[in-house]
Amino acid sequence: MATTTTTTIIPPSTPTLTRNHYARLLLSRPSPYNPPDDPPSDDSPPLSDLALHNLAASRILVIGAGGLGCEILKNLALSGFKKIEVIDMDTIDVSNLNRQFLFREKDVGRAKASVAAEFVMARVPGCDIVAYVGRIQDKDEDYYAQFNLVITGLDSIEARRWINSTLVGLVDDSNPDSLKPLIDGGTEGFKGQSRVILPTVTSCIECQLDMHAPRPQVPLCTLASIPRQPSHCVEWAHIIKWEQERKDIVLDTDDPEHITWLYTAALARAKDFNIEGVTYSLTQGVVKNIIPAIASTNAIIAASCVSEAFKIVTSSAPFLGNPGASNYMLYTGDSGVYTYTFEHQKKDDCPVCGNLPKEITLDPESTLGELVEGLAERPEAQLKKPNLRTEGKTLYYSSPASLEESTRGNLSKRLGELLQDGEEFAVSDAAFGIDFRFVVRFS
Ligand SMILES: [Zn+2]
Repeated sequence: MATTTTTTIIPPSTPTLTRNHYARLLLSRPSPYNPPDDPPSDDSPPLSDLALHNLAASRILVIGAGGLGCEILKNLALSGFKKIEVIDMDTIDVSNLNRQFLFREKDVGRAKASVAAEFVMARVPGCDIVAYVGRIQDKDEDYYAQFNLVITGLDSIEARRWINSTLVGLVDDSNPDSLKPLIDGGTEGFKGQSRVILPTVTSCIECQLDMHAPRPQVPLCTLASIPRQPSHCVEWAHIIKWEQERKDIVLDTDDPEHITWLYTAALARAKDFNIEGVTYSLTQGVVKNIIPAIASTNAIIAASCVSEAFKIVTSSAPFLGNPGASNYMLYTGDSGVYTYTFEHQKKDDCPVCGNLPKEITLDPESTLGELVEGLAERPEAQLKKPNLRTEGKTLYYSSPASLEESTRGNLSKRLGELLQDGEEFAVSDAAFGIDFRFVVRFS
């Protein structure tokens, strides 16, 4: 017969641990950066103290307080970072609550940056987080110059390109403090990446732009004449039908009435072509260009970003982006569990950090209009409102309206008429503050 004995477990007496206990242990271990045979002299503090001081004193800017941003803020605070700012312009939507774990139902409608900052500060005493609700473009160079490091958790490529060119522009060769490492995290479903950019030293986001190839666009003629997929019917309702029937109303993708209108139109079109699968949520997904967000992928990528920040600030281990080493980590969770780390090379003809114009092969018989349209789709440009000029003349300006009108006539002209082989032309887009320089090579 089994007997039950009750044992009282007496816990061994443990000293009260400070919040930094384990960070201090980690930072006290011998490492290539902290050699055991090179002890600090008696009057200098141990390296672990210096590293902990750096953690507490570094000013970190986090851009984005969404799925990645919540994880990044939490990890930073729990790792010992104390001076953090966060920028985000969005407000909390009920659909965010499944993964953006710093938000609760009562917070719906409030600004993400403010709620995230309040939550983490309440949970981690001693951590100071300043929230800014607005666009990154609202802030000037002086604002960005005050940080030691910038971490981005964004879903917009445009915002990444903007902060990248701003940080490259800040670098002053005579002032080492002007170089602000940029750690960029991104996820798409089960896939993600983290990368470290040392502006002007390693390859920048603009050098790496072809890693974000634009989504292939369905030709307008397919939408207009022979749709094959449910998404084609939604795009047709979105691009063509809305323009025909509701031209005077600005489409608001957050307005349920607008989505319902598009859904009804898309469904009718799908019936005409015997296409199945048009639903309300598909309509919403196509129109809002929704990328599925998975909480675990966000957690993995945010952890990688904050680990790199920790290593950079404490000099405790070699970090991603060490010049001459890997600077890009790809995580592939959709075909197993796979990570791959490599060095993305800096490009001499990068419009942001390089100094050479890029060669562009053009057909002299094609028109300027075709070139302008193509700039949106070229993986290395992705410009939606480009302005084009040569040294001597203006070719085409998308804005302002008066310049657009006076240069519109050039769109139908042959490139052979407007440009010469070997001539250089510049393309800019107000959204990025980047000047692309191209040299024409006629095919
Ligand atoms: Zn670059």
